[in-house]
Amino acid sequence: MVVPTLDVDRSDAEYRAWLKEAVRKVQADANRSADTHLLRFPLPDEWGIDLYLKDESTHPTGSLKHRLARSLFLYGLCNGWIRPGKPVIEASSGSTAVSEAYFAKLIGVPFIAVMARSTSRAKIDLIEFHGGECHLVDNPCEVYEVSARLAAETGGHYMDQFTYAERATDWRGNNNIAESIFAQLRREPHPEPTWIVATAGTGGTSATIARYVHYMQHDTRICVADPENSCFFDGWVKHDPDATCATGSRIEGIGRPRMEPSFVPGAVDRMMRVPDAASIAAIRVLERVLGKKAGASTGTGLWSALRIVAEMRAEGATGSVVALICDPGDRYLDKYYSNEWLDEQGIEIEPYRELMERFLAGGSRLD
Ligand SMILES: *Cc1c(COP(=O)(O)O)cnc(C)c1O
Repeated sequence: MVVPTLDVDRSDAEYRAWLKEAVRKVQADANRSADTHLLRFPLPDEWGIDLYLKDESTHPTGSLKHRLARSLFLYGLCNGWIRPGKPVIEASSGSTAVSEAYFAKLIGVPFIAVMARSTSRAKIDLIEFHGGECHLVDNPCEVYEVSARLAAETGGHYMDQFTYAERATDWRGNNNIAESIFAQLRREPHPEPTWIVATAGTGGTSATIARYVHYMQHDTRICVADPENSCFFDGWVKHDPDATCATGSRIEGIGRPRMEPSFVPGAVDRMMRVPDAASIAAIRVLERVLGKKAGASTGTGLWSALRIVAEMRAEGATGSVVALICDPGDRYLDKYYSNEWLDEQGIEIEPYRELMERFLAGGSRLD
């Protein structure tokens, strides 16, 4: 007896032609793009310690989320999850949505961002500028559920950066942020940094950097700087994957209410909890030193990196430390650069600013 062979062929020439063209457009966009700069943050020469900032604000969509959005679109396309005419939906604190709106427009699919109502106006405007639609919710914890529901209702694809960030990125290389940092350090006095400091929103950036460092057998250690109102610090310290935090983070882009699946605790060497006032003071110092405004998450990482520099000084160690400029400050003029907003929030940045300025003028301590 011959058992009949079951055979279902869903191949669709029209869809495949669309897919091919969509992947080509995303790849061509990458091919036209330049790498981001690794800036030097000057420290007193006699310290023998170099601090660098990887300036991710110069991507076409202005933040490190440009890399993530490109990876998520390629992953979603190659998995057959993104379909012609169907919307891409994302839960975002803003930056990812700005970059994804750009890529959605590039391949010609609709885009809907689900965000907390507290997201900065400038980011909402940028998403709309790139042709995206914003769906605002009152409770930041609802963004995941609302995104999944919208996807089910529209037949669209919920991109879900918080789950897929770590796996959509090629952590072994392929010009990811870590490979780029190490290539740019090649001719520096200390090409293998003692520490790289990242901050965590999805956790994807810290996971990519840490995995690359381990894979390449570097001695570099990875520190994640976490703001107030985020569960990552406690969850990491207590080895608790169920840690939560009820209040939303004031530092846009980082600090989460739950341990996001893309945050890879085991790959991280060290965590610091940074006061919001220190994060914001640090971007004011950054502006004085480099003439550049950045978002507050950049300040969270910079404060943490300066603490590590101070610690290296105290130990008499030389070497290099790398942190990131995550997004530009012009998105937050009415927030982190507004003294009224700081007063309203009860945030006092002066004591931290004084500590940093005294340290950078040759002081030995940062506390
Ligand atoms: C997303 C984001 C981060 C953190 O990056 P992850 O890779 O998501 O952890 C930091 N700063 C800003 C402004 C961001 O948007």
